[in-house]
Amino acid sequence: MIESPLLEKLTGYIGGRWSDSAEGHTFDVYNPATGKVIASLPSMPESDVVAAVEAGKSALRLTSPYTLETRRRWLEAIRDALKENKEEVGRILCMEHGKPLKEAQGEVDYAAGFFDYCSKHIQALDAHTLTEKPKDCTWTVHYRPIGVAGLITPWNFPIGMIAKKLSAALAAGCPSVIKPASETPLTMIALFSLMDKHVDLPDGMVNLVMGKASVIGKVLCESPDVPMLSFTGSTEVGRKLVVDTSEQVKKLALELGGNAPFIVFDDADLDAAADNLIANKFRGGGQTCVCANRIFIHEKVADAFGEKLAERVNKMTVGDGLTEDVDLGPLINKAGFDKVKRHLEDALEKGAGLVAGKKPADLGEGHLFFPPTVITDVNRDMCCYREETFGPLVPMALFRTEEEVIEAGNDTEFGLASYVFTNDAERAQRVAAGLRFGHVGWNTGTGPTPEAPFGGMKASGIGREGGLEGLFEFVEAQTVPRGF
Ligand code: ADP
Repeated sequence: MIESPLLEKLTGYIGGRWSDSAEGHTFDVYNPATGKVIASLPSMPESDVVAAVEAGKSALRLTSPYTLETRRRWLEAIRDALKENKEEVGRILCMEHGKPLKEAQGEVDYAAGFFDYCSKHIQALDAHTLTEKPKDCTWTVHYRPIGVAGLITPWNFPIGMIAKKLSAALAAGCPSVIKPASETPLTMIALFSLMDKHVDLPDGMVNLVMGKASVIGKVLCESPDVPMLSFTGSTEVGRKLVVDTSEQVKKLALELGGNAPFIVFDDADLDAAADNLIANKFRGGGQTCVCANRIFIHEKVADAFGEKLAERVNKMTVGDGLTEDVDLGPLINKAGFDKVKRHLEDALEKGAGLVAGKKPADLGEGHLFFPPTVITDVNRDMCCYREETFGPLVPMALFRTEEEVIEAGNDTEFGLASYVFTNDAERAQRVAAGLRFGHVGWNTGTGPTPEAPFGGMKASGIGREGGLEGLFEFVEAQTVPRGF
């Protein structure tokens, strides 16, 4: 079992105190590196979720809002608490997710960055008066908190994802009811423990519920007291939330699946492209929605690039993230492992070549460590091309022309992240404009940052997180024209 000063209470948090779930149902949290249970947590009943919404409602203030200064102080206090406890939060994160310890601790810094950004830009949410005077009135625009927000997060960034949502919700003055993924609730409990000890939040401003997604999702979708849901996860669940909230016309912020193209032209710096692909593709074990999923290589440089990639991949160390110098941890669970294996099998059966990694038959059983794997001659008939693999499989496909690769890149219902490597600036501009993706890295495999808006086009989502666009997600503009 995991021990930590930040995990003294292993339960939810409602109305400013740790909850005491009555029903006694529990669920287990595993360390994917060892397969061992590290905690057992309450699967909270519907009545707890309703109580969390009520607590949020009681913390909402419309007529005398928490001032910008008060909200700025909350954000700064959370940022500081995360930074001061980066090592311990990172250790907990590493143990329940599996990613290498340094990467886990880096994620805590990344999370602190969102609270920092919102604290520094909160002034943008102040009311302003229009310089024009339409209809002979003086018009003031206020940014009101939308109300209690349901925040639902996935397991792949246990602290990063909640930071994006919670920083903007608190900046707006919105209370929240937060549901972490059942694979990684301990990092969230650690965050609540820090907020409980170090941040002067009103009771009910932040509430934590955990357990069955269907039970929690139902209350959040159906309660008229929750006017907004912010969700990061699969497109399948995102679609369900759209349907389940349609009756009430809730505001939705959705960050869903991706199928990121990573395009390498023949004029690119191949070493830089290979380094960036490694950093991008193997982050979080390849289990992020911004990880490159389809690698398009110009046919002239395909062999050279494949060699560079194999050379780098063969030097990578796979193991328990808590062990020093591990580059790649385990996958999150057996379903995740089986999916990557199925994609590899399918591609090899349909004619792909194995450049680095193991054949499916040699992967072994009873563990979740999938070696970094590179395959060539991939085409659109293969599962790894059409679906998000969410694992350390690098599938390479060839292309000849710019037009062809833009079309191939867009040949997916998703539109989250994409990458293009070329030293021709005009071409980069053309390709970026042609790609229907919310993020287009040019000569970089880097992902989102607190300073820039990030989100998906097409079936990858609605809304943006980060940047000023993200700061405005939890407010509603209200206009007050003054007639005399
Ligand atoms: P992933 O494949 O990353 O696990 P999911 O979409 O299944 O993505 O889950 C993302 C988050 O959404 C998790 O916290 C999960 O428990 C939650 N979730 C799953 N189904 C529902 C639902 N019907 N309503 C609300 N939340 C849900």
